[in-house]
Amino acid sequence: MSSVEWEEDDPFEEQRDKIENPMKRLFLAYGRDYLPQVTVGILASVFARLLDLLPPLMLGIAIDAVFYEDAPFSEQIPLVLLPDAWLPTGQTEQFWFTIAVIGGAFGIGAAFHWIRNWGFNAFAQNIQHDVRTDTYDKMQRLNMEFFSDKQTGEMMSILSNDVNRLERFLNDGMNSLFRLSVMVVGIGVLLFWINWQLALVALLPVPIIGGFTYIFIKTIQPKYAEVRSSVGKMNSRLENNLGGIQVIKSSNTEPYESDRVDDVSMDYFDANWDAIKTRIKFFPGLRVLAGIGFVVTFIVGGLWVFQDAPPGPFTGDLSVGMFVVFILYTQRFIWPMAQFGQIINMYQRARASSARIFGLMDEPSRLAEDPDAEDLVVGDGDVVYDDVSFGYDEETIVSDIDFEVEGGETLALVGPTGAGKSTVLKLLLRMYDVDEGSIRIDGQDVRDVTLKSLRRSIGYVGQSSYLFYGTIRENITYGTFEATDEEVREAARAAEAHEFIENLPDGYDTMVGERGVKLSGGQRQRVTIARAVLKDPDLLILDEATSDVDTETEMLIQRSLDRLTADRTTFAIAHRLSTIKDADTILVLEGGEVVERGTHEELLDNGGLYAHLWGVQAGEIDELPQEFIDRAQERTARLIENAESDDD
Ligand code: ADP
Repeated sequence: MSSVEWEEDDPFEEQRDKIENPMKRLFLAYGRDYLPQVTVGILASVFARLLDLLPPLMLGIAIDAVFYEDAPFSEQIPLVLLPDAWLPTGQTEQFWFTIAVIGGAFGIGAAFHWIRNWGFNAFAQNIQHDVRTDTYDKMQRLNMEFFSDKQTGEMMSILSNDVNRLERFLNDGMNSLFRLSVMVVGIGVLLFWINWQLALVALLPVPIIGGFTYIFIKTIQPKYAEVRSSVGKMNSRLENNLGGIQVIKSSNTEPYESDRVDDVSMDYFDANWDAIKTRIKFFPGLRVLAGIGFVVTFIVGGLWVFQDAPPGPFTGDLSVGMFVVFILYTQRFIWPMAQFGQIINMYQRARASSARIFGLMDEPSRLAEDPDAEDLVVGDGDVVYDDVSFGYDEETIVSDIDFEVEGGETLALVGPTGAGKSTVLKLLLRMYDVDEGSIRIDGQDVRDVTLKSLRRSIGYVGQSSYLFYGTIRENITYGTFEATDEEVREAARAAEAHEFIENLPDGYDTMVGERGVKLSGGQRQRVTIARAVLKDPDLLILDEATSDVDTETEMLIQRSLDRLTADRTTFAIAHRLSTIKDADTILVLEGGEVVERGTHEELLDNGGLYAHLWGVQAGEIDELPQEFIDRAQERTARLIENAESDDD
């Protein structure tokens, strides 16, 4: 997927663009709860880094004041800050004192490092967990239009990649940031304190390294963007091919596909190689700069030590010990500078990820629940569609749908593919809101009741019977978690599923769904029917409930469905008209409109679309009027056209 397409497909772009400062929002909304952890982390980090600075300094002191005895111990930086009474005077005592300070710095430093890691990790992990669960909760409440293929990919990527990327900055990034700050400030202060003139020399490469790093980031960033985009394209291609492997094999296009994969992989290679070429120049370049700084400091400092203050602005003395301290500190100072780039990089990535996360979270729900909504109360189960019109986008898909179903009756929707049958029923479940008109259940508008009570009252058995990864029992009790084993068995019996379940390796405890035992379409369907039976809803929607099964199983299921629908208001969509011919009312839809309505017999007598469809299914193709065939061809052509324009 190219970056341009990506932008276009991006479902949350609009909200994301409105977010001004995602990192501030992240810290305010989520960081606050973990303030103690991050405070502990920051304090421990500062102490740990300060303690890290002690050993080199003590080494310098030991050289000057203990080994060479050229300078008074108590006047050394930073010992001068301590009262003389605390400091030993004898050479041996001073030696052991120095060792004790170095040992103590390592020991206590280690403890602080542990606390620092604990604090930052606790901070990062907790925020990550909270953000992930909040994003998931929000995602579940998004409108159905977000759940098409491309967009679920995008949501998956937000939930995993983006959320996980926060950790990099919240833990590693912030850690480095404080280390760097303490190093820069701490070492800077000490160097200037010891010898400000030499400090200037030693820090000379710092601005140059800063500039060099800046140029590096500017150069590498577009290259990384290119790498990410080519990875995206490659993954799409691979996913696509794995999904379509059957088509590839059956059309003998393996070599063609291998070439296509070769192409995208090569693009990825090129983009990566381009970035690598820049990256591998950076560190050697940095080494050269750091080396120059080192050599210059060594020359100036070295000459100063064994001759005298070099000509120019340099005055005073430089001891061997302090010279060593300078050399050690400059080394520690230069390298972290190079990490600034990385921190900025991590920050920017975390910022982009936060913006994507909040973009999703801010997506308004078109299906806002009325704050005063009350629970739906179903009595008889009368359902009224009052002049309903609706379109997913601007285009109207169903219009002027007007009908009434009395409690306990069955209403069937038939018509060609794409006529709008499923759409009509999705409106009842309030997957979408009607654009015009209203839908009422026992006089209550579906928009005025709580979504929870509405969906609890309606059972749905759809075309694709999706099973969750889990046991058969869990799949049947899904949504009716408190059911007893006996009730589960009863429901399975009613759905004609009990027998095949008993024959599975672990019976009701057999794992099914993705990664579990593969059930046939018909078996899956019966499990979902059992789920609906167990739920015992007031209203029932059967959306091509027997589409996936052979005629014999269909007969069995039909029997169980008849039992299920007997005294429940039922809506049934079916292609096989034989399954709905006993419905109380049949609505025939075409192009989003009701073109005929009546009972099976009435419609047959009518001799319209229904009678023709019935004729086709009864095998009377030869007797169909030409007009019917023409219309069917027109419809198919339209469907193909639509499908093609969807692909564009
Ligand atoms: P049927 O159930 O009669 O086969 P549908 O209700 O599924 O028909 O679809 C009716 C029309 O609505 C079709 O043209 C289809 O392309 C379109 N449609 C269905 N679902 C969506 C959706 N989520 N977004 C946009 N258009 C859709």
